[in-house]
Amino acid sequence: MAQLNLCSLLLVASFALVLAIHLSAAHPRKLMKSTKIPSLNEVKGYLQAHGYMERPEDRPTGTSGDSLMIESSLKPAIRMYQEWNHLEVTGKLNSETIARMMTPRCGMPDIIRIPDKGVHHESKPGKFHVVAHYSFKNMNPWSQRQLTSNFMSTIPSVPIRDLRAICTRAFQHWAAVSPFRFREARQGEVANIKIGFYTRDHGDGYPIDGPGHTWAHAFAPRDGRLHCDGSENWSISTPTTYQTDLESVTLHEIGHTLGLNHSQDPDAVMYAYLNAGVTKRQLQQDDITRD
Ligand SMILES: [Zn+2]
Ligand SMILES: [Zn+2]
Repeated sequence: MAQLNLCSLLLVASFALVLAIHLSAAHPRKLMKSTKIPSLNEVKGYLQAHGYMERPEDRPTGTSGDSLMIESSLKPAIRMYQEWNHLEVTGKLNSETIARMMTPRCGMPDIIRIPDKGVHHESKPGKFHVVAHYSFKNMNPWSQRQLTSNFMSTIPSVPIRDLRAICTRAFQHWAAVSPFRFREARQGEVANIKIGFYTRDHGDGYPIDGPGHTWAHAFAPRDGRLHCDGSENWSISTPTTYQTDLESVTLHEIGHTLGLNHSQDPDAVMYAYLNAGVTKRQLQQDDITRD
């Protein structure tokens, strides 16, 4: 199996190189990241981080996490990734799959795993979906309509005045389609949604990876932490082709703090991927009607 994977990686290397050249032409700032061919460990780490593969910490106590077991779960994880992402399902790391993996995205998982139970499956074989389905109509995971927010960053990536204006607009979009109302927390008040910019390891078990790859993450109710990558090249107005649009990302991450998971609809705000230079500042039907 290890040999097989090595061969796959060598094949993948040529695809990745072609892809890197293509991406670097379109996004010179991503050159350094793009020319780096993903290693087997990086692919595994990616699949684990986004829910397609069991993480060592998810394993029930007392079970072995040996490398053979991890190797055997790689192909099904790639298949699951391809299926979720509407790619050709081959179980192989082809160029299309690697291109998707290299697309900048949200750090939260696509597939939610329940500890000791693995992925929740529908009755149809080969089908899967995220658990904890949520629609504004059916439940309120916060058990209150009025939610407060505040700003706490370890790195001042964006002036607070601009951040406040961007978040206010994003909250207004969600308030228009949900039972929630939003206001900034008063001095000393504990906020429900805590927004900030961080770098690297910042104490929540989800280290931030630096420019490119993942731009932010946010935790579901009733946690509410919303962390943006402090070293990302953020745009606070109209993004250039090298900048990530902060308003689009904030709108997406607030969705997580309200209990929404990722959408498979590429037009949805809750779709996990957003390229540099792209804005997505309007909620789509899929964002507000999922159940
Ligand atoms: Zn997300
Ligand atoms: Zn964090």
